[in-house]
Amino acid sequence: MHNLTLAQISKGLEAGDFTSVEITQHFLDRINQFDKGENGLNSFITISEKQALIDAQAADERRAAGNATQWTGVPFAHKDIFCTDGTLTTCGSKMLSNFVPPYDATVVENMKREGAVCLGKTNMDEFAMGSSNESSFYGAVKNPWNNETIPGGSSGGSAAAVAARLVPAATGTDTGGSIRQPSALCGLTGLKPTYGRCSRWGMIAYASSLDQAGPMARTAEDAAMMLNVMASFDEKDSTSINQDVPDYTATLNDDLAGKVIGLPKEFFPDSLDGEMKQTMKAAIAEFEKLGCTVKEISLPSTDLAIPAYYVVAPAECSANLSRMDGVRFGHRCEDPKDVEDLYKRSRGEGFGDEVKRRIMIGTYALSTGFYDAYYVKAQKIRRLIKNDFVKAFEEVDFIMGPVTPSPAFKIGEKSGDPVEMYMEDKFTLSCNLAGLPGMSIPAGQINGLPVGLQIMGNYWNEASMLNAAHKFQQVTDFHQQAPANI
Ligand code: GLN
Repeated sequence: MHNLTLAQISKGLEAGDFTSVEITQHFLDRINQFDKGENGLNSFITISEKQALIDAQAADERRAAGNATQWTGVPFAHKDIFCTDGTLTTCGSKMLSNFVPPYDATVVENMKREGAVCLGKTNMDEFAMGSSNESSFYGAVKNPWNNETIPGGSSGGSAAAVAARLVPAATGTDTGGSIRQPSALCGLTGLKPTYGRCSRWGMIAYASSLDQAGPMARTAEDAAMMLNVMASFDEKDSTSINQDVPDYTATLNDDLAGKVIGLPKEFFPDSLDGEMKQTMKAAIAEFEKLGCTVKEISLPSTDLAIPAYYVVAPAECSANLSRMDGVRFGHRCEDPKDVEDLYKRSRGEGFGDEVKRRIMIGTYALSTGFYDAYYVKAQKIRRLIKNDFVKAFEEVDFIMGPVTPSPAFKIGEKSGDPVEMYMEDKFTLSCNLAGLPGMSIPAGQINGLPVGLQIMGNYWNEASMLNAAHKFQQVTDFHQQAPANI
């Protein structure tokens, strides 16, 4: 049952092959079997066993009453960055280890309205800062393909859970690659939509001008089905864009003939691992067989994405995290002497090292005298990066390249060197800086570990990216491969 895709589960519920209570219980049993204990994946922070079964029962009743939607009774999980009314929401941090929100994020509300069944909240890098899921207060997440390796971050819990078939799909968020990178390293299909497509209301802010929610699933069809519900215009989010949500599943089978794929030379540098280059080229050749043509292009500002991002994102996070002061919510230190002591110790105890590092970098970059030199400069670079893409999309329909420089690395291998960790993001950051949609699809394996092909499209072109991904998945089986012993 756990090998069924979202689309198959939806059809199975409709056909009466199983009930929502049955399938929900099946996945909950798997979570209990594979996630906890010393050898467990640690992909969940909270398992909502009781609530999930109540919701599944309600879904079965709704179906019996004749008003089920495609999603009614279908199980999934939320990254622990989305506020869930009455359910612990930690963002992977000690700071929020006692935070139970009094409201739902819009994305959460959208899924609830359809009657989808949330099995729990997935582990993540603290406040979504990281590329390996090692910075969580709740411990590192293991990659089900090889549990000595990282699943990627920051949505590593969602990725590991879906890859291990503990849940058929999960939500993620992507500020600089956190949907695409873990999807690539766990063999999933993940999509970061255009900035403004999914509401950020109730999604705990990391870097507000970059954060975007999106689906993490096994197939493009499932990602489309999820985005249909996750995406919405939301008056409560001033950066949400008032544009209709198309049915992303309607165009999955459109013909790809005549589509032009741009291959930026900066995404295939001489330093890129030979096997990675080969795997990408082989995947792109499949698109050529589907009628696409390939064109070499240049995105000259690509190398500036890491320095620009690692100024903009910390600057924004230093402002966003200032609300965690131990007063209104979150961790509060014991017996503070005075208000200054309260702030210092609550924040000192509540935040982990990587979060503190970024708050310091961001505060420095925003301070008088340095603001122009760092923040304003980074914003100018951001415009150059965007302009590169605008120019490229005058000539091509898609831009493709690797998601990561290599497959999953060992737990602990890069955690002592932040700069080396930041280098992991070199192919994913520019998409966020430009606000463009980007996705990762399974494209092969290196040393028995999955790697992903990145597909970027022009603004609001999610439907055609999903179409390309789906057609690719009709002629390849990388998305069907599963970790051993699962
Ligand atoms: N690895 C990047 C960072 O640490 C991206 C994280 C994300 O997309 N949330 O900032």
